[in-house]
Amino acid sequence: MLRRSLLAAALASCAPATSTTPPQEPAALCPVAPLPATVPAPSNMSLAPASAIAAPLLLRNARVIDGSGAAPRPGLDILLSDGRIAQIGRDNERLTAPAGARTLDLAGRTLLPGLIDAHTHLGAEPQQSHAEGVALAVSSSDADAALRGAANARATLLAGFTTVRNVGGTLAERSLRDAIAHGVVPGPRILVANYSIGMTGGHCDDTNGLRPDVFGGPPDFRVGIADGPDELRKAVRHQIKLGADVIKICATGGVLSQGDGVGAPQLSRAEMQAVVDEATRAGRKVAAHAHGTLGIHEAVLAGVHSIEHGSVLDDATIALMKRRGTYLVPTVAVGQYVEAAATAGKLSPDSAAKAREIAPRMRESVVKAHKAGVKLAYGTDAGVFEHGSNAREFVSLTALGIPAMDVIVAATRNAADLLGLRDLGQIKVGFIADLVVVDGDPLLDAHALERPLLVIQSGTIVRDDLTP
Ligand SMILES: [Zn+2]
Repeated sequence: MLRRSLLAAALASCAPATSTTPPQEPAALCPVAPLPATVPAPSNMSLAPASAIAAPLLLRNARVIDGSGAAPRPGLDILLSDGRIAQIGRDNERLTAPAGARTLDLAGRTLLPGLIDAHTHLGAEPQQSHAEGVALAVSSSDADAALRGAANARATLLAGFTTVRNVGGTLAERSLRDAIAHGVVPGPRILVANYSIGMTGGHCDDTNGLRPDVFGGPPDFRVGIADGPDELRKAVRHQIKLGADVIKICATGGVLSQGDGVGAPQLSRAEMQAVVDEATRAGRKVAAHAHGTLGIHEAVLAGVHSIEHGSVLDDATIALMKRRGTYLVPTVAVGQYVEAAATAGKLSPDSAAKAREIAPRMRESVVKAHKAGVKLAYGTDAGVFEHGSNAREFVSLTALGIPAMDVIVAATRNAADLLGLRDLGQIKVGFIADLVVVDGDPLLDAHALERPLLVIQSGTIVRDDLTP
């Protein structure tokens, strides 16, 4: 069955990325190493060997923000070997470069773990208008989405995001995940959900508002549309059969879907429990798109691992999320993006009204949830806005008063934890050597993270704007 490839049906013209994002092209792009062995890998996930093991790399004089939330430590030497962090010097201790190692002096610049975006749509791109989105939806194939995705993956990697979780798309992103793992194209390490799963006529049903026969008939479980616990189980099994690393559901309506209330609950608790049960049996986590309070509450009770957006949170739901350890993946920047698109008259009237309604609530909710101690993981919804500008969520969250260190932890240690990647997201001996170097202090200037000078993935330099 055909199905539109883009989740974002109706979008405004792109707000220009900040003038510095992304900066110049890097000197070289190198193939990336395989997924780390600690990924709870389904049998069909690609774990191909690295195409090339990087020579040891000694980074000198780094100011390290290690991703754990600890205060920055200046003057550290870090040795990378075999794709991992092999040694971290004590304060102002100079490590000895092993034979064959390359040495790079960071001159006191800030070194962070490679950034992780827990909410992307690599096959999707911003559209200039609702009409353009619909036209693309009915004409774009998975092959088109995969090729777009390759360019988007490259932009994401060069922006310092070395790992992403693609929560909803087609089978294009699965192919992209495997091509990147095999070193065929550059890009971040990807965990994919394949198709999002939701009810007939809900936010995940991309055929809303279209002629009923346009894709050859109503969509079914094969593309994630299912009703009732049994069918939802089948939909989960099918996405896993197709190589899903994570399951994405739509627990409520959404902004860019047509004809559904943005906060309306869309799956019953019994349906979501069936999803979580089936996913858990297969070792997969569940991410729930959810804007309205009731849908969020029921998704958390059903046992989902993360609430995406989480726009309208009340105190009881915040307390429940804290108690259950459910992650919130706020997406404040995309809320602001669709608000601006609505103001510019570039969304459908339905989506424009929903964007205006929900974005301010999202900002209030994340502040309350953070204050209450709900765990945050960093996510952007990139694809609705431009890939490669994933760092804009740092700016949006810190502008709300959330401490920069907490946002950095959300994009490193916490995101790795949510993705189940236990040796990623921190600068620690033995961890995967995914690293980013920026100019300036990201604790004082969130925009600093929009300007990576050096990006290292599995010990290999994939962007180098430091070396003359
Ligand atoms: Zn999304």
